[in-house]
Amino acid sequence: MNCKRAVQLVPAFLKDELDTDDLRDFIEHVDTCEECREELTIEFLVKEGIIHLESGEVFDLGRELGARMKAANHRLRIRENVKIIYYAISGLVAVELVTVILILVFLY
Ligand SMILES: [Zn+2]
Repeated sequence: MNCKRAVQLVPAFLKDELDTDDLRDFIEHVDTCEECREELTIEFLVKEGIIHLESGEVFDLGRELGARMKAANHRLRIRENVKIIYYAISGLVAVELVTVILILVFLY
């Protein structure tokens, strides 16, 4: 993912609207790209900071964004595990079908 794409995805990331592939690429990019991390921090501050300011709560930007990134990583891992389990099950079903067909072919 390039910087232009990453910056485009920041609002969707903050709204939890990225699909699994975009989310993975986005996290990978932001982890390694200082500029895009800065962009994310600014947009996060604008979006979340104002809400907290209005409510009068103390807002720890670094901690809040860190928690957000951790939650996103966690969601990504769950989604990828679900995908793996899904493929594993489809694979097993396919193997069972082939087995049943082979048994039928040899028996009849
Ligand atoms: Zn970048």
